[in-house]
Amino acid sequence: MYATSFEYHHAATAEEAQRLLARYGEDAKLLAGGHSLVPLMKLRLARPSHVIDIRHAAGLLGIREEDGHLRIGAATRYRELETSDLVRRTVPVLAEAAATIGDPQVRAMGTIGGSLAHADPAADLPAVVLALDAELIAVGSTGERTIAAADFFRGILTTALEPTELLREVRIPVPPPGTGGAYEKRAHPASRFAVVGVAAVVTLGGDGRIARARVALTGVGAHATRATAVEQALVGTDAAGGDVAAAADGATDGLMLHAGRRGSVEYQANLVRVHTRRAVERAMARARGA
Ligand code: FAD
Repeated sequence: MYATSFEYHHAATAEEAQRLLARYGEDAKLLAGGHSLVPLMKLRLARPSHVIDIRHAAGLLGIREEDGHLRIGAATRYRELETSDLVRRTVPVLAEAAATIGDPQVRAMGTIGGSLAHADPAADLPAVVLALDAELIAVGSTGERTIAAADFFRGILTTALEPTELLREVRIPVPPPGTGGAYEKRAHPASRFAVVGVAAVVTLGGDGRIARARVALTGVGAHATRATAVEQALVGTDAAGGDVAAAADGATDGLMLHAGRRGSVEYQANLVRVHTRRAVERAMARARGA
């Protein structure tokens, strides 16, 4: 099917994109990688009268380190996240997760901002920004605001962004020494979306015990969420013996799993526990410099 007709706008800068978005409001859609928007338009589930292309917009592109943060423009593509030396050195869990997305074509076009703004319940990067305590910088007609990743995802394909707000940047605090992260995913064999995805980031204290833990899940609810029961169970342990497996058992706390195309409730719960354990164990090994 063809999309309904629309007016195409090329935004040269983030400011121009936001102005166009403010002018056309709910009649407009931003086009980033297009890998979610274009199929929706072709299915006529999205019928914007104005499409604002931000693929080359200055102010939305690139990755840099500044003031202890990694600052990633919203229109930065997965391929860049996957291959960036800066990302691999500071937050390898992000590069690792980006490398699992779709296929090379999807990674060549899809963007971090598009993924977060679209908020597919089975997308990979929402779990990663939760585990990294990222801040999302949004720009609207009244100025800029900072939204903690923990407050950003609200429901299926629903975020804290207003319809006329542009997600400009993803800001990730560079983790302290003694931190390790890992992403474990059970990919759907057809789409490569996460049946279950788990991002884990742990920081060790001077005594070798876990001082801080972040574990976030995707694929198993309306939106990506932190597994706070696992985090709490890990803090203070040295992750030896059965510590990690016991903590991972709490990963299903509070989840509303439903039997369906993704398997039985028991199968999904097992996937969540197993992938949580694997992600935490690999994060621990990296934190110890192994
Ligand atoms: P677009 O499709 O251009 O936009 C998506 C939505 O976000 C639109 O509503 C758009 O207006 C809005 N938007 C975009 N940028 C901004 C911004 N800066 N501010 C505010 N709103 C914005 N995803 C995964 O996570 N894992 C997978 O394994 C995976 N596999 C895939 C396999 C296939 C075959 C395909 C087609 C897609 C797959 N995806 C997967 C989805 C892919 O990651 C999409 O690229 C992503 O969901 C949307 O990013 P995009 O840059 O393409 O955004």
